[in-house]
Amino acid sequence: KWEACLKVIKDNIPLQAFKTWFSPIVPVKLDGDVLNIQVPSHFFYEWLEEHYVGLLKKVIKKELGPDGRLEYSIVMERNTPNSTPYTVKMPTSGNSSLKNKPVSVPLMVGEDHIRNPFVIPGLKKIDVNSNLNPSYSFENFVEGDCNRLARSAGYAVAKNPGGTAFNPLLIYGGVGLGKTHLANAIGIEIKNNFPNKTVLYVSSEKFVHQFIDAIGNNTSNDFVHFYQMMDVLIIDDVQFFSGKEKSQDVFFHIFNHLHQNGKQIILTADKAPVDIHGIEQRLLSRMKWGLSADLQAPELETRIAILEKKMYGNGIELSREVVEYLAYSINSNVREIEGALNSLIAQASLNKKAITLDLAKQMIDKFVKNTAKEVSIEYIQKVVCDYFDIEIEILKSKTRKREIVQARQIAMFFSKKMTKSSLANIGAHCGGKDHATVLHACRTVTNLSETDKRFKSYLTDLEKKLAIQ
Ligand code: ADP
Ligand code: MG
Repeated sequence: KWEACLKVIKDNIPLQAFKTWFSPIVPVKLDGDVLNIQVPSHFFYEWLEEHYVGLLKKVIKKELGPDGRLEYSIVMERNTPNSTPYTVKMPTSGNSSLKNKPVSVPLMVGEDHIRNPFVIPGLKKIDVNSNLNPSYSFENFVEGDCNRLARSAGYAVAKNPGGTAFNPLLIYGGVGLGKTHLANAIGIEIKNNFPNKTVLYVSSEKFVHQFIDAIGNNTSNDFVHFYQMMDVLIIDDVQFFSGKEKSQDVFFHIFNHLHQNGKQIILTADKAPVDIHGIEQRLLSRMKWGLSADLQAPELETRIAILEKKMYGNGIELSREVVEYLAYSINSNVREIEGALNSLIAQASLNKKAITLDLAKQMIDKFVKNTAKEVSIEYIQKVVCDYFDIEIEILKSKTRKREIVQARQIAMFFSKKMTKSSLANIGAHCGGKDHATVLHACRTVTNLSETDKRFKSYLTDLEKKLAIQ
């Protein structure tokens, strides 16, 4: 019967909501018209009653007939001795008394004592759904120079939550660089190390929406209490709090309470705290109390390692040149690298073709067009080095040998022309030159191409090779 109810519910609410609020429910027994379901926490029960009562009523009546009723069993904290689930009946189900009066008082929404369920004696801890994504683990997170500090700080926090100087731990960086992944990994690791700790992952957006709902329902105290009960609170994308003063206020109080009680706070943001605007000074300064660690765009080796890890995870094999091509061509962020790999796999299996370099080129081309059509400096360097048959290390060195200088200048020229990188960044990739040197190189190449036919032909050749047609 419950299965049938679930089916209807699933069709009527967003998938994420269904996963969060209905997947964890366990049907216990069906006793005549009364269906007993087990929910993980009191909060959970309240949430269902507040948000889904109408829908639940409908499906229960549909499946169990007009007298159908729902009864909840609430799981108490695992560590409480003799923890028996207690039961509440669905408040909307009329006044008929319950058959086997369950342990503890039947609680009814609307009665005062349920306004703050967190003061129920004996209910010291709650069993919340941590909301962690199990695939975002440390094992699946590739370490590289780009993320070493953030990763190791996160790992330290997971060993000793609330007990390190990294409180809060703020992880920041651009889109697709792994903030959400790393934040989840820390949460998962804490859960592994300390199964009894209450860990909650929530996006700032969800936090804000919950808070707005709580205000509307006059339950903002419950909201605050709920968050103050966490041992570990992970809030993703705090830049979303910008300009939302009330949410910032409530978060400020939660933050203080948790911090004072030695609870761990983990935050992520898309920029460094100094660059986040629209956040109150007092909150911003607290965000900086612990450690702010940034995630950089992954360097080539890390991109290759990520691709290899992904391939391995998916049980597929790609030739080294395909992997390198992918890693060379897509340098912006990890999400795009994954996206490209996935489309490539899909393409190949759809057309039953082997994943050759050519296929990869065609595919990446389309893929890159849809995002940022940009080759990387590294790719340009590789093509130039292949063309002139020199080692990439030598190109990047400080050597002043004529042919090398020329190749280096050409690489700089194409980097300037084909990427959005700054002159300084291009210089840094070409043996630590400054921006003036890069500018000079570009001018030299332009001048030479106008006067030297042979040189001009090099450029034309290279342009063809570099063009992602
Ligand atoms: P952000 O939250 O910074 O926008 P995400 O954490 O959502 O980025 O990461 C985007 C994708 O890239 C995810 O699928 C994530 O698993 C993957 N990813 C990011 N960094 C790494 C890494 N170092 N190793 C493996 N996968 C990563
Ligand atoms: Mg994210």
